[in-house]
Amino acid sequence: MASEVEFWPMSDRQRELRQKAREFALKEIRPAAKALDETSSFSEDIYQKLAEQGLLGITIPEEWGGSGADTQSYALAMEELSYGYASIADLCGLVELVATLLLELGTEKQKQRYLTPLVRADLKCSFALTESEAGSDLASLSSLAVKSPNGYLLNGSKTFIHNGPVCDFALVLARSQEKGDKHRSMSIFIVDSDLPGFSRGKKENKLGQRASQLSSLFFNDCLLPEDALLGNDGEGFKNMMIVLEKGRICIAALSLGIARAALEESLKFTANQLKEEKPGGNSQTTQWMLADMATDIFAARSMIRHAAALKDGGIPAAMYASMAKLFASEIAVKHTTAAVELQGIHGYSKDSIVERLYRDAKVTQIYEGTSEVQRIIIARNLLRKGLMP
Ligand SMILES: Cc1cc2nc3c(=O)[nH]c(=O)nc-3n(C[C@H](O)[C@H](O)[C@H](O)COP(=O)(O)OP(=O)(O)OC[C@H]3O[C@@H](n4cnc5c(N)ncnc54)[C@H](O)[C@@H]3O)c2cc1C
Repeated sequence: MASEVEFWPMSDRQRELRQKAREFALKEIRPAAKALDETSSFSEDIYQKLAEQGLLGITIPEEWGGSGADTQSYALAMEELSYGYASIADLCGLVELVATLLLELGTEKQKQRYLTPLVRADLKCSFALTESEAGSDLASLSSLAVKSPNGYLLNGSKTFIHNGPVCDFALVLARSQEKGDKHRSMSIFIVDSDLPGFSRGKKENKLGQRASQLSSLFFNDCLLPEDALLGNDGEGFKNMMIVLEKGRICIAALSLGIARAALEESLKFTANQLKEEKPGGNSQTTQWMLADMATDIFAARSMIRHAAALKDGGIPAAMYASMAKLFASEIAVKHTTAAVELQGIHGYSKDSIVERLYRDAKVTQIYEGTSEVQRIIIARNLLRKGLMP
């Protein structure tokens, strides 16, 4: 039974996972966030503990080592982890997407070799789509895997790849047919990082989410075995859509976690101002800022729960997932900016949490489909299907 009035009914399982993620965020992530941000380092310790807690592969069935929970539980957990530190939540999101593709498309052998070790944190993965000339427009990617007698010969490069500097394997989207329809000539390959011809670029130096490790990946005459192909040849682009909704719900929840942390810091600061009888606390400007933050957070949470519930019900959720991602990422940027302003010099200082939240929020408008791309998807859905019910 719920001990509080919940804004949305939760199953015991959903509440349990949210609680587990909340406690983990408070005990393990929050205390480490500042140092991880300052040193831009990967925390092997936290990665292992996430797996021990069942927070890697939340929607992956238990028989493959996951927690077998639904998308709503996953979204609740992502909000909590991101409230702890967005880089850690994004690491969970990466594992979830790669694990979902392995689960849905993998052969028994591929699942045994990669899926269970991944959700147990014995392996680290990357998900490599973006190229320097193919970001939003993935159809124009040029990495090429040519069929050879022994498998596929892969040439090309990927850029800004999460976990690039540390991954043991990457799911790589490449063209496997030189001619023909752009969308029907791509395949997904599982590429081991110890293969000859695989190399990594330098670690990217980024504005925010600095503990997330990013680099380019290069494939130079990289000979992939026959069974490196994940799913059918030529169906890579279509298969990517399997994780589209989940990926956007995930980043919406991550953005929400950042916004919630900004509200919490703003409330603490304002309460202190009121206690010390400083004019800021009582001002209408401050109070409107707090009210707008809380209202947008409530709206974003409702949108995320709605999109996740549709997905769990097997109902197409693409437009709602895009709306949730668009709205949550926009309010994360808006309200982390407001949180810095509210605190003045204190908010601008490296000693404050909101300074990091402000930097961590920006990328949520860029990755997993930019805000412009989400608007295109929403408009296309509206024009195709008419007004929402
Ligand atoms: C921190 C971080 C982590 C990332 N991790 C990964 C990863 O693990 N794997 C991976 O494959 N990629 C990753 N990416 C890359 C990310 O997916 C791309 O940045 C994103 O797809 C946008 O592509 P782009 O940066 O090339 O921008 P572009 O596509 O070049 O877009 C530039 C601008 O043009 C706008 N634009 C583009 N097309 C249109 C259009 N048709 N109509 C209107 N506006 C348009 C965009 O909205 C944007 O404002 C990561 C990026 C970052 C910053």
